[in-house]
Amino acid sequence: MSQRPLVLVTGGSRGIGAAVCRKAAAQGYDLIVNYRSDQSAAEAVAADCRAQGARAEIVQGDTGTEEGVAAIFAAVDRLGPLHGLVNNAGVVDVTARVDEFDRARLDRIFAINVIGKIRCATEAVKRMSTKHGGQGGVIVNLSSIAAVLGAPGQYVDYAAAKGAVDTFTLGLAREVATEGVRVNAIRPGIIDTEIHASGGLPNRARDLAPIVPMQRPGTADEVADSVLYLLSPQASYVTGAILNVSGGR
Ligand code: NAP
Repeated sequence: MSQRPLVLVTGGSRGIGAAVCRKAAAQGYDLIVNYRSDQSAAEAVAADCRAQGARAEIVQGDTGTEEGVAAIFAAVDRLGPLHGLVNNAGVVDVTARVDEFDRARLDRIFAINVIGKIRCATEAVKRMSTKHGGQGGVIVNLSSIAAVLGAPGQYVDYAAAKGAVDTFTLGLAREVATEGVRVNAIRPGIIDTEIHASGGLPNRARDLAPIVPMQRPGTADEVADSVLYLLSPQASYVTGAILNVSGGR
């Protein structure tokens, strides 16, 4: 069994999740790189992690489904014990007003962005909490600055889902505070990843730069640095915190 602490990153094949995997490997962690659809992208991230001396395995699984969560945590049980969960997988839908939303859109947005994150955290706590015989651990939830801005005219559903992630973070952190498990969240601002293209606005990060106090989008690496801090022993007294990584927005 590896001596390096094992971290599960959901949605680790691209964007912020991939940056977290690469930085975590460089800083001495082993990785489980979860992905939903792009196996070769996940494998490329895992190969980069191995090149840093980490043990890294990929696992396919849609965090918005029970089958997906079961597959992911079957891999955890093969490779564990689990030290960290980076609850990163998240999606937007195409930009639209609330009066254009249908039920299917809401089911997908909340299944992945809220229920999937709560289900992964639940399975992680069962393995990490000293109450359950675990050795403690750390959970970092990827929220969004949209939780406090509302994303009007773009994706209010996504913003509302991220508000739920914030509240879940506060409640879970307090629930397991004496059980060796720290739980925090990060609210990225406008970060230059492919998520904007999936919302139908491929240039969104560049176009919105003028409304950011720092006048630029952030990078996946800049968000990953904050994730790595929250995972680390340097954050040993930090729980229930929500950190804006948003260039002042
Ligand atoms: P991204 O570039 O679109 O990457 C998303 C990643 O999540 C991909 O690896 C994707 O894998 C995976 N994924 C999506 N749905 C999944 C599911 N149901 N199960 C498992 N994996 C899934 O997104 P990102 O910009 O890095 O965003 C990462 C997180 O940060 C999200 O929670 C997002 O809401 C949050 N965030 C991002 C921004 C931003 O501006 N970029 C701002 C605020 C918050 P596949 O390719 O295999 O589908």
